[in-house]
Amino acid sequence: MEKLKADCLFCKMIKKEVHCSIVKEDDKILAFKDINPQAPVHIIIVPKVHIDKVSDLTKDTAGVMNDMTLAAAEIAKELKIERDGFRLVVNCEEYGGQTIYHIHTHMLGGRRMTWPPG
Ligand code: AMP
Ligand code: ZN
Repeated sequence: MEKLKADCLFCKMIKKEVHCSIVKEDDKILAFKDINPQAPVHIIIVPKVHIDKVSDLTKDTAGVMNDMTLAAAEIAKELKIERDGFRLVVNCEEYGGQTIYHIHTHMLGGRRMTWPPG
């Protein structure tokens, strides 16, 4: 099974065909700075397998959520924001505000977040 998709922006970043500002990379995930940051820290974490969105996850693929969340915990320590705190967001489809259809986690920090979200 081909794990990446030819016409997907985030897959192209994983293949290094498109530049991004990498924060962390291992065999499971790529994490990079969001091009349009909504907070002082705004990092996108993507699994190195193409899955359109969170509602497509199955028992076989749901481990990508573990991989992304563990990477966020490690990045938080590296950036020393684990004590102040941060927010993880996964947008899904139109009402969730998803614009790029390769599942990803937003990591937002460096300022106090508000609730409810917009
Ligand atoms: P979403 O709207 O949840 O699908 O999130 C997609 C995110 O990808 C947005 O926050 C965009 O700012 C970000 N994004 C789009 N293109 C790029 C890029 N070339 N490099 C980094 N981040 C990007
Ligand atoms: Zn992709």
